[in-house]
Amino acid sequence: MITCPRCASENCVIPAEKVFESISSMYAACPSCMPDPIIDKQTPFRKLATVLDDSTMRCKNCGKRHLDIVIAHVLDILIREGLRSNEATLFDVGTPMIVIGYPIPFPPRLGRNMLILIMDVIDKKTAEMIVNEVSEVKGVIKRTGRSEQPIGILTTDSTPHIYDLLAGCDLRADIVSSVFGELCIYKTQSDTHIEFSRAGSEKIQVLESLYYHRKLEGTVVDACCGAGTLGLVSVLAGAREVILNDAFLPSVTNTILNIRANASILDLELEIHTDPSRLRIVADAPRLIATAHGSSDVSIYHSDLVDLASILERSDLCLIDAFTGVSTGGFVQAWKDTAAMVVTI
Ligand SMILES: [Zn+2]
Ligand SMILES: [Zn+2]
Repeated sequence: MITCPRCASENCVIPAEKVFESISSMYAACPSCMPDPIIDKQTPFRKLATVLDDSTMRCKNCGKRHLDIVIAHVLDILIREGLRSNEATLFDVGTPMIVIGYPIPFPPRLGRNMLILIMDVIDKKTAEMIVNEVSEVKGVIKRTGRSEQPIGILTTDSTPHIYDLLAGCDLRADIVSSVFGELCIYKTQSDTHIEFSRAGSEKIQVLESLYYHRKLEGTVVDACCGAGTLGLVSVLAGAREVILNDAFLPSVTNTILNIRANASILDLELEIHTDPSRLRIVADAPRLIATAHGSSDVSIYHSDLVDLASILERSDLCLIDAFTGVSTGGFVQAWKDTAAMVVTI
């Protein structure tokens, strides 16, 4: 059992190998499910004219409902609480994110706690009602600030910009595919820059290209690792040593979680050296938090990425996964003496 770093439940984190076993049917209709409802997403809610509660159009066999029905149920609550007019459409609810992100060619059927909603206009009381009344909704996140504003931090002198989790739990995962295999990368979503899978796969393509140029064999540093994706894919690719680092504590916690959740696929055994819950949210001095051994030697640090360069032995490759709009010149300079090659992704 792996405990959820957000809500402490033991049901939030499914080991990656179990996710891969069940993913093909996770969002599919069962033979008893009703056909897809025909709802024009641009139709004002008042014209849909139906009573909505948790049993509306729920399959009696598999217990799932179509995404549009779930969203309509949420919209009904938003209108009831005065946060949307009855002219609002399904498009006006927010951004739905399925708990295990995976490209599916059909609208998902959802069971309990399978959806996280990101909304612009929402308050805490209504968010709690939505989580309590709509069983498919696991968590509600309020989006503040500009959508292009990055989440998390590159250096310790910047302030983290965090989406606000108003109700429930926001732990979800994305399945990351590469030529080396697949990983299930969990993240506390409100601490994380929201990337849609296209951007993710472009970053993986950069790694694949480095692999074919034999640059992923030695010591690889994933200097601002976020949930750990690039570093852990480097483990899959056969890197001898991988160093994962982030200055933002939730990223370090998510990386540790992802080594646990993918332990059997990565063939790694984790050892914690510093209890992350005792650390400041933004790194002060570089600190080794955990190591893992098996297919590769892995270290996880909580440090400013410039400070980290000064304490590490020479490495072969440093990956800097920078946020859009952030200048990376200073970081590249800091790593030039420590790493044989610096790649900003
Ligand atoms: Zn949770
Ligand atoms: Zn069904």
